[in-house]
Parts: sequence; structure tokens; C-alpha cells
Amino acid sequence: MNKASAMYKKFFLILFFAISVGLQVTAQQPNIVMIVSDDHAYQAISAYGSTMMQTPNIDRLAKEGALFNKAYVTNSICGPARATILTGKYSHLNGFRDNENSNFDFNQDLFVKDLQKSGYQTAWIGKMHLGNNTPQGFDYYDILPGQGQYYNPDFIETGNIRKHYTGYVSDVITNISEQWLNKRDRSKPFCLVIGHKATHRTWMPDLQDLDRFENKTFPLPKDFFDNYATRPAAKVQDMTIAKTMIMGYDLKMFDSEAQAEKESTIARMTPEQRKIFLAHYNKIYADLKAKHLTGNALTEWKYQRYMRDYLATAASLDRNIGKVLDYLDKNDLSKNTIVIYLSDQGFYMGEHGWFDKRWMYEESFRTPMLMRYPGVIKPGTKINDFIMNLDLAPTLLDAGKAAIPASMQGQSFLPLLKHQHYSPREAMYYHYYENGEHSVSPHFGIKTTRYKLIRFYKRVEGWELFDLEKDPHELKNIYNTPRGQQLSKTLKKQLDGLIEKYQDKDARSILDTEIK
Ligand code: CA
Repeated sequence: MNKASAMYKKFFLILFFAISVGLQVTAQQPNIVMIVSDDHAYQAISAYGSTMMQTPNIDRLAKEGALFNKAYVTNSICGPARATILTGKYSHLNGFRDNENSNFDFNQDLFVKDLQKSGYQTAWIGKMHLGNNTPQGFDYYDILPGQGQYYNPDFIETGNIRKHYTGYVSDVITNISEQWLNKRDRSKPFCLVIGHKATHRTWMPDLQDLDRFENKTFPLPKDFFDNYATRPAAKVQDMTIAKTMIMGYDLKMFDSEAQAEKESTIARMTPEQRKIFLAHYNKIYADLKAKHLTGNALTEWKYQRYMRDYLATAASLDRNIGKVLDYLDKNDLSKNTIVIYLSDQGFYMGEHGWFDKRWMYEESFRTPMLMRYPGVIKPGTKINDFIMNLDLAPTLLDAGKAAIPASMQGQSFLPLLKHQHYSPREAMYYHYYENGEHSVSPHFGIKTTRYKLIRFYKRVEGWELFDLEKDPHELKNIYNTPRGQQLSKTLKKQLDGLIEKYQDKDARSILDTEIK
């Protein structure tokens, strides 16, 4: 063998070694893209059977991966939901119970910190909404301050650098995400969290989507004119489309440009954006005034406006999810990247006459969740086990071959996806704390496959029990019936067990005084 061929041989050996090591590492540690939207209802996603609109890009995840039919949250509100995703812990242990006066404590176990230790580079881009403390666990962040803005948003980048972008927020978030992926360290697996502002109130669509649903009329949910009989907490809430939804702030019906500047964020728009935006809504407002609607007719009109703005905002969200999937395809990343899409919680699309979230009732407790994991999840999979946002942290650590801290309360569902031994949950525990905006009473409870038992406290005191098989829309509280009393005995024991398991002292003290 001459010197040159020996060199070539050595070169090819090294190359072969490098490729096989590279393949081994990537096969063991998949990249992770987790897309978390805000207030996006499963009722508005076609993969979940919605006829309100088509969401082809979210549907693509269902076709190529798994759709979770029974994904739920521990506490149905923005910041606390994200805190649970990061920590794998309930609000009472991660400390972020509500959106009021809360700054998330980043000095605790977060799944991203453990992924970093396991060799991952991590980033959060877009909406985080966890207060004012400096994020930890991320090699890079570029996040919206607080709720952020739909048009020409400001961002805070790693090192607390304030930046301003021109454009529509969902597009801006995708662009920053792609830029980070372009400049990432390609020798490491990555975990990128993309946090969307859409579809949060006040549902300001991208200009190109303003007309998208204007010719569509949406059927009212059957329980739209709910009278809240048998449910005292539902009676005192403040989240109806009829009374709470504001004509200006929410529905963009402004009597003057001065009012529009005061109640909306049009001041952030360029003159061109503002002109198109106001012309669109001013025409609708003129039509409304000519109709002189009152009472239920006006409420139904508000519902149609809400639906049109909300779904138009969701259209951009879905388009931007598509852009990320296309980017992964173009950059040969799809095969070795887990993609998860979920909302921070569910949302009301007029059910019970409501918008917003918070309740342990189904539409807000349940959240859309889809996951693509090539080679592990068979395309078109439907998961019908109870999965909680609590489980994401341990699942992603499991997938990333990282250690799962003992403090995490969730359960990895990776074995379920791999058809390995997995013990499904028999019941789920929920606890909502905030007692301010929208006047929803704090409550905790248990959901089994058939029943839901809820204990309200502070604002309203009392129990509610629903037979979900007979009453899927949760309109008839049967707690005070003889059958309800009988059923509650068993359910309270189960609830007691979950409170013990998750170490919820506040719920414990309420339950103890109740039972003893
Ligand atoms: Ca939210």
C-alpha cells in the first residue's frame, strides 16, 4: 500500500467513524420543536373534527404523527400552564398559581436545564409570559414582553436586549425561530420552544386574513344560551359574549380613531396597516349601526364577529406552523425532530355563552395536542389515554435520554408511544387558583373516564358532579341528588388519593374540614 492510499484509507475510516457516531447521537437524541399557542381551542382545529375552519398544517401533524384526544391541563390559564410545561409540576409546587402578581422562579428543575446537561442547546422564542425574572435553561431566548403585541411587536432577547420588529407577530416569531435554527450549533441536538401569542384576546388578525371568514356564518353552540341552573359558580362568572365581550376593545367597533387608539393597539401600526385595519372594521360597524340590533340578536351578532376574528387569527397561526414544518423538510431535519403542537389550555368558542378559559369544564380543561415523532409514532395514531401537560417535561427528557428529576410529578408517555409497558391514568387532578378577572371561583377536582367532581371555594363554596356520559356538556350538576351523593363517596376518596399523591396542601385542608 502506498502512502497516498494509506492516507485515503485513514481518511475514510475517520469519515466513517464520524458519520456513525453522528448517526448514533442523532438517533438517540432527537431534536425537539415544541410549538405552544395561546388560547387555541380544539373546537377550531379540523384534525379534531372542527367544521369552523380548515387547519391543514396542524392536521399534517395528525396525519404524520399522533393526535391526543384526551390531553388536559393542570390549571387552565396562560402563565401557570407554561410553568407546568417547564417544571412537570402542579402550580402549588412550581409556585406559579395565577397570572396576577406572579414572577416565575427559574431557580428550580426545568426540563430544558436537564436537556442542556444532556448535550442539548435550547431556545424559547415568542410568547413566554412568566413575569419579569430572567429566563434560565435557555441558551437563547427572544420573547415578547408580557402579553406582547400583534402588530410590530417588541421582543426581549438574551441579555435583556429590547428589540423592535416590523410585521405581524406570528410571522415575526417564525422568522426569529428560523434564524436561530440557521445559526445554531449543528454539532448538538436542539430543543426549540416556539411560543405563539395567537389566538389570545383581542384576536387581531393579520391584514391578509381580515376577509377570510366574513362570508361565513357559524352555528351557535347548543348551550350558547345556558342559564347556569344547578351551577352557582357559572352563574357569577364574568366571561359571556353577551355582557363581558367589549364592542370596542374586543370586536374593534370604534366610534372614532381616538377611541381606537385608546382601546386597541392600532397606535403601533404603520399608517398603511392602520388604514386597511380601520377601513375593514369601520365598514362592519356602519352595517351594524344600520341594523339597530338589541338583546339576543346583538349577542348573536357579537358571536359571529368573535368567531370571524378568532379564526382569522388562527389562520395565520396554522400557516406559520406550516412554515416551520417546511423549514424542517428543506433542511433535512424532519426525520430526526419531534414536533409537538399544543395550546397552553383550551378555550370557549361560545359554549355556555362564553369566551376565555379557567374552568375545569371540558372546553378549557382539555387542550389540543399533537406530536410527530418519525420512527416512533405511526402516522395517523390516535391517543385516547389521559395525558396532561404535566407529562411533557418527563416525556421530552425521556426522549432526549436525559435524567428525569424526582421532583417532576408527570409521567413520561414515551413508553405508550413505543407500545412498551405503560400504566395509563385512571383519573386526573385539576386546581385553578385565580380569583379576579372574569370572576371564576377557585376550584379543584377530579375527572375519571365517566365522572367529574369539582369543589369550588373562596368566591363560591360547593360541589358539582357531572355524569359525562349522560351529560357531556356539563349542564346538570347531580351532586345533590341521591345518586350523586352515592357516587361522590367513591369519587371523594379518589380525589383524596390524588391530593395526597400531588401534595396539594391547600386542597387537603379544604377536603379535611369537609370530610371530618
Ligand atoms: Ca392562554
